[in-house]
Amino acid sequence: MVNHQTISDRAAHLSPEDLAALQENLHEQRLFRQDQLRQIATAPRDEELRRRRSAGQAEVHVKLAAPARMVLADVEAALQRITEGRYGACGLCRRPVDRERLMIAPQTRYCAGCRQARCRPDQEAGR
Ligand SMILES: [Zn+2]
Repeated sequence: MVNHQTISDRAAHLSPEDLAALQENLHEQRLFRQDQLRQIATAPRDEELRRRRSAGQAEVHVKLAAPARMVLADVEAALQRITEGRYGACGLCRRPVDRERLMIAPQTRYCAGCRQARCRPDQEAGR
């Protein structure tokens, strides 16, 4: 018996072209974030310098680094999902994530329903 359903619904709504575009977008985002984190890491942290420049600068660095790291982790997880062929499915309910949503934010992990229910999209539920 031939099983035509092995490639199930997971990425059926995404064409190979979509996936290629999303992957490229994710690669760019990864580069951008890595760059950003490098800049934050190499920025002067010296107490003197901090005071002489602008008082708020060091705080800005801390504030920038955390979200940048989070996005980078999401982006890398999304690239991993593409590699593993399970990209585009909600991490919770396994339903396809809106194509439009993925085009705007390719690292999106959950469908609209699950995102609303959770409000904390960075927490990975047991799969
Ligand atoms: Zn879902």
